[in-house]
Amino acid sequence: MRKKSNTIIEIIAVGSELLTPYYQDTNSLYITSRLNDLGLKVSFKTIVGDDHVSLLSCFKLALKRADMVFIIGGLGPTSDDMTREVFAEASGKELEFRTDLLDHIKSRFKKRGLIMTSSNKKQAFVIKGSEVIENRVGTAPGLWIEDLGTTAFLLPGPPVELKTMFESGVMPRMEKYRNGFSFRKVLKITGITESGIENLVSDLYPKSPEIELSVLAYPGQIEIHITSHSLSSPEKAEKMINPLIKSLKGRLKEHIFSENNEELEEVIGRLLLKNKLTLSTAESCTGGLLGHRITNTPGSSRYFLQGVQAYSNKAKRELLDIHEDVIKKHGAVSAEVAGLMAEGIRKKSRSDFGLAITGIAGPGGGTREKPVGLVFTALSWNNRKNVEKNQFLGMRDSVKSQAAQKAMDMLRRYILFNKIKPIKR
Ligand code: ATP
Repeated sequence: MRKKSNTIIEIIAVGSELLTPYYQDTNSLYITSRLNDLGLKVSFKTIVGDDHVSLLSCFKLALKRADMVFIIGGLGPTSDDMTREVFAEASGKELEFRTDLLDHIKSRFKKRGLIMTSSNKKQAFVIKGSEVIENRVGTAPGLWIEDLGTTAFLLPGPPVELKTMFESGVMPRMEKYRNGFSFRKVLKITGITESGIENLVSDLYPKSPEIELSVLAYPGQIEIHITSHSLSSPEKAEKMINPLIKSLKGRLKEHIFSENNEELEEVIGRLLLKNKLTLSTAESCTGGLLGHRITNTPGSSRYFLQGVQAYSNKAKRELLDIHEDVIKKHGAVSAEVAGLMAEGIRKKSRSDFGLAITGIAGPGGGTREKPVGLVFTALSWNNRKNVEKNQFLGMRDSVKSQAAQKAMDMLRRYILFNKIKPIKR
């Protein structure tokens, strides 16, 4: 094998479904990230269908060009699962039957009160000279083959099986191939555009090859991923990154909502809980997305009291006490209605905060004055309110995500910058 830093690694995702528009090869992203943690880089990724000829040529090519290959999927019991057989053919190895594996597979079926089908017997065949990697959550055993010139791992396709096996059976075996230590930090940012971030911090971007920085944009959220690499210790890798993090934080200040991989809903949950404050929501165009995100956080019942979807004008009148005249005068998508929605839900639920969203998610319903993507987000607290007018871009899903994100960020910033006491009930 080459020097560790030059190890050529290939990942092969097997499965005809991965070549359709409906499934994505997410397993290779996960494997890449774990290999990067070991200081290793991936040189090739291939997706190949369940077809004998394609598999054979693909495996032969990998055995020729790679020092290490990770083959994912096609280890199941059905006739289109042929990874094991074709890899044996490509590497000139034989298959051997293992009674102990068959017993293990049988016992898994028994535990679930099922009878093993005869097709599962296929999974008890292994490539001669390989080491079996235990599958703790499925029937297909993984295989590790080291005597080929190319180290090969054959791993199951279902993501849960793959991850479980990779953590317990592959990572320990990969330790000897480690090429240093990585440390990764993710700064999650909202309330500023990608170009705004660029203006504030681009001069800080690292020049050294030991530190990598990438900026990833999602609807309403931008993430700065920083990874450092040290050949000697994890502590050194972490230390190397700290001055850069400090400078980025100094420039981006409150736009950063998390550096611990928290979602925005977790951050506002923590702030509400710490200050003993409660929240309710009233949503129109987001149709419950805001409430859904807030309740994604375990323990949210301690601060989230109520959420209503006031989609129609009737619902806005009946659930939030908004007068018909206001809706007629300003329209359901207006600063006035957004403010009254926030106030209405706060009063009705007797919570400290009311958070509301009304807007035009599209693709239809836009006008010149009120185009698609126009969204009003509102926060009501203690008989005061703050309403923001937003013009989001993108498709319906993206507008909804940005709206929910913006509403939560208004609350986050409000709690951060104001000394708030809970209302006396
Ligand atoms: P099984 O015993 O379940 O058949 P297997 O090893 O044969 O395991 P596959 O049949 O290839 O695995 O894949 C099972 C399912 O796992 C696929 O339908 C797909 O949903 C998912 N899957 C397979 N490969 C990948 C991949 N690379 N990324 C994400 N999901 C995958």
